[in-house]
Amino acid sequence: MLKLDFIPLARPDIREEDIQAAVQVMETGMLVQGKNVELFEKNISAYLGIKHAAALSNGTATLHTALVSLGIGHGDEVIVPAFSYVATANVVELTGAKTVFCDIEPHSFNIDPTAIESLITKNTKAIIPVHEFGLSCNMEAIVKIAKKHKLFIIEDAACALGAKQNGVFAGTTGHFGSFSFHPRKAISSGEGGMLVSNEEALIDDVKILRNHGIELKEGKMDFVKAGFNYRMTDFQAALVNSQLKRLNSILEYKNKLAQIYFNEIDNKNVQLPVTSETFTHTWQTFHVLLKGMDRSKVIKKLADAGIGTNYGAQCIPEMTYYKRKYSIDSPVVFPNAYNAFINGLAIPLYERLSPKQIKYIADEVNKL
Ligand SMILES: *Cc1c(COP(=O)(O)O)cnc(C)c1O
Repeated sequence: MLKLDFIPLARPDIREEDIQAAVQVMETGMLVQGKNVELFEKNISAYLGIKHAAALSNGTATLHTALVSLGIGHGDEVIVPAFSYVATANVVELTGAKTVFCDIEPHSFNIDPTAIESLITKNTKAIIPVHEFGLSCNMEAIVKIAKKHKLFIIEDAACALGAKQNGVFAGTTGHFGSFSFHPRKAISSGEGGMLVSNEEALIDDVKILRNHGIELKEGKMDFVKAGFNYRMTDFQAALVNSQLKRLNSILEYKNKLAQIYFNEIDNKNVQLPVTSETFTHTWQTFHVLLKGMDRSKVIKKLADAGIGTNYGAQCIPEMTYYKRKYSIDSPVVFPNAYNAFINGLAIPLYERLSPKQIKYIADEVNKL
């Protein structure tokens, strides 16, 4: 029998033109943050229709800087979904604030807006909704709660560049929107991140924080904050800028591949992700829920068929650091997050895959 090439769970699509764009910058010898970073910021602002943007070294740095910029620290509380990549909570801990976990909706895997209000105390300062796997959150409901309680919103849109809710881009309604350009995301600079906001003062502050706290006044340099070095390099910006031109076609193609999964996967033990007319998905991750199956056996079986799969995200309070600090019984307190963590499975979906490969994966999933 013909042995198929192994299909990894994810693989970036870096093309010759992207590499050339990066190499050209390297040849100038101007490596650190410069005009390509500025251009990338302009292009992201234009793409999202938002006023201001600041590129940073990665998506965790963006979330961290957003919190620091909003003055969040010791004594404060920040509401975070219990099911996400762990970075969403780590950044809260790094500021000294307390992470307050919230359960997710069972079908969208996004923070459950109806569960947020009961978690708000006099110390709550912010909510970090995550557009999990690239599906836009219900921002209208979240904004309503945040306004009522005067909370900041930092949208973790790491997976959701290009996702929309009722025509509004994910990452553009909060005080800050945060994006990542890690190789797992649709376009990549290796490591990279972006903060966007319609408030100029917020992005000005981020630009000071990312660069050692330096402020230039009348050509004179001063250090006005204890800042970070969270800068993006100029060749990374050129690499990802080149891919940004293809973003819409990448998203369209991924959507086409997702439709093949919807048409072809037919297994009563595999629950497909939700879709809707008004909430668009970037299909950063095609995440299914297994019912009554041992996930590790499923992962092994699919690997034997040449298909890389893995769990999709963590139930963060179950991770050792959080377990020791907060001792939460997740199956009881966050049943949806816990179920998604235990029974969730990410299957391959990216622009380097052909419809034929997707069909093959669907057939193997049907055999489970
Ligand atoms: C990828 C990701 C991050 C972290 O981004 P990095 O660029 O890897 O630091 C944060 N939150 C979510 C939801 C992510 O998917």
